[in-house]
Amino acid sequence: MPLSEELDSVSGTTAGTVDRHGTAGTFESTNPATGAVVGVFPVHDADAVRETVEQARAAAERWAALGFAERRLRLAAFRGYLARRVHELADLVHRENGKPHDDAILEITLAIDHLAWAAAHAPRTLGPRRVRPGLLAANQAAYLEYQPLGVVGVIGPWNYPVFTPMGSIAYALAAGNAVVFKPSEFTPAVGAWLAAAWRAAVPDVADAFQLVTGYGETGAALCRAGVGKLAFTGSAATGRKVMATCAETLTPVLMELGGKDAMIVDDDADVVAAADAAVWGAMSNAGQTCIGIERVYATSAVYDRFVSEVTRRVGDLDPGSHERATYGPMTMASQTDVVRRHVADAVAAGGTLAAGGTVDGGYVAPTVLLDVPESSAAVREETFGPTLTITRVADAEEGLTRANASSMGLGGSVFSGSTARAMDLARRMRSGMTAINSVLTFASVPALPFGGVGESGFGRIHGEDGLREFSRAKAITRQRFPLPVDLLSFSRPAAAFDALARVTGLLHGRHR
Ligand code: NAD
Repeated sequence: MPLSEELDSVSGTTAGTVDRHGTAGTFESTNPATGAVVGVFPVHDADAVRETVEQARAAAERWAALGFAERRLRLAAFRGYLARRVHELADLVHRENGKPHDDAILEITLAIDHLAWAAAHAPRTLGPRRVRPGLLAANQAAYLEYQPLGVVGVIGPWNYPVFTPMGSIAYALAAGNAVVFKPSEFTPAVGAWLAAAWRAAVPDVADAFQLVTGYGETGAALCRAGVGKLAFTGSAATGRKVMATCAETLTPVLMELGGKDAMIVDDDADVVAAADAAVWGAMSNAGQTCIGIERVYATSAVYDRFVSEVTRRVGDLDPGSHERATYGPMTMASQTDVVRRHVADAVAAGGTLAAGGTVDGGYVAPTVLLDVPESSAAVREETFGPTLTITRVADAEEGLTRANASSMGLGGSVFSGSTARAMDLARRMRSGMTAINSVLTFASVPALPFGGVGESGFGRIHGEDGLREFSRAKAITRQRFPLPVDLLSFSRPAAAFDALARVTGLLHGRHR
């Protein structure tokens, strides 16, 4: 079936996949720039979600039984399918999320790269291996392998509607799981496109990647549907609800939550490069980036130059929906209220508005706030808009202390002329990822794990940790020969334990 027809059936506008499920009505997704309807989708109820998970469970067995090599072939077919349609998908992302076409291409390309890496590295990371049995079990062969969890539920956000959920979906599939994906209610067409692409590219195990659509209640139903793990990406507020729902069935969770990422600009930093990176890290995707830069701590030595470079650059930005727009509208109209509140609070608290601060329709002007008190919402809470606070600090050490004072800790950035100094600051930054002399780059390295600390969540996608996140360790011992004295038997001689205590004393007793 051509993708457009498949997408029609998934979106429920013609008879197809979803019509056999129960639904509680439909909802529309709209283009945030024009208000035009992008698609109409079913609101799947709890019965529909359970039915979908059961279908996926049957597919999960077939998918797992294929083994790494056969799965890799099919994941390559999926990757090839996406790669041949990058522009088609980017156009849909542009229409439904609002971001520029070029930014959509970037996120799709990154997702494809991760898909390739996950498929290629799954066998070595998860496959069976022998481990040393140790002295007490010298007669045993010991085996370790990482087995799939069955069906993984993925609940995604709208800000990177391809890259973010694919960070869970690609790694979960490569680890041998089936996936049921609930995209954000703001970007269901992108989710439906991905699921339809899978069906077209991998027809023999089409049910291994399925879609349910709807609002929070559909997500909650997925939490209760008996999945082996629930991979959630979204806000900390919703993450708390997801954890509480998953606790009802002891379903394990992966939490990829929000951030308030900081950049530290040190005395000897390349100020021009730091300003360029800060503006892109803060403003691209209209600031709706979980690992976007929201705070900068610049040392007194570079502060004035840094501020003037940043304000000059934001003057060149051109938000809009036209071809050369640097960023688009806010995907979720209500987010402009959060941005307005943070800007007003920052100015009321004594901060200086150096640029922007205005909202025109769905577009927030690139906004730079100087020396906002650390207690204000613009510094403490995730703003998720094209805004940046810049604060003068005595030195990088003070910058680090302030960066680490956040309840969140997702990513971050350090600009410094000294590798040793930058590495030291990066290691001590309380976050899951830090980029030195760049921003966000860790997300584009498939071998590096991605995830946060504190209220930014726990668990990891990407890299070997991301593959293991979607598997369970399985330990097996096989007795190769019986020992003359079997300590795990009631027939053991009493004297054996004196000998054991003596050997333990000899081996470990000298350590103080
Ligand atoms: P959100 O928390 O509002 O929604 C996320 C998803 O949860 C949506 O699909 C939504 O329908 C679903 N949901 C809502 N209520 C639910 C419930 N009670 N039970 C189950 N599911 C429910 O987040 P959002 O506005 O879509 O995304 C923006 C947030 O995501 C920001 O905080 C951003 O930083 C974060 N984010 C984090 C990462 C990361 O990797 N750490 C990546 C992208 C976005």
